[in-house]
Amino acid sequence: MHTIVKDSHIHGLGVFATEDIPEGYRIFEYTGELISREEENRRELENDKTGVTYIYQLNDHESIDGAKNGNDSRFVNHSCNPNVEGIVENNHIYYVALRDIKRNEELFIDYAFDKDSKPEMCHCGAKNCRGLMNAV
Ligand SMILES: [Zn+2]
Repeated sequence: MHTIVKDSHIHGLGVFATEDIPEGYRIFEYTGELISREEENRRELENDKTGVTYIYQLNDHESIDGAKNGNDSRFVNHSCNPNVEGIVENNHIYYVALRDIKRNEELFIDYAFDKDSKPEMCHCGAKNCRGLMNAV
């Protein structure tokens, strides 16, 4: 394994590289339960109460909920200046290094929540921080 989950200074738990990871490397798959958009909407109402969600939109109709059968990938935090991106291939989501990542660096993806969904404040501290985790 190339990563470990531990406390993040950005938010709660985060995922950190335990060794150098080269650009383009497929770090892990975003695993979880495959759910419909209707089920996602229902769960997000519940998740709003706890403030924690691990739902990742896979396509126009389905999402993956990492809260069930998820792996460490669900703990990757958001940054407006990410070093990892999620790519969808054959209905699977993979987290791929956007650049060379050094040992001990925290991994980040840009959550880019729907711009029409509830605004989520961002405190990532990146120079280009949008102030929101939503897409613009
Ligand atoms: Zn930000």
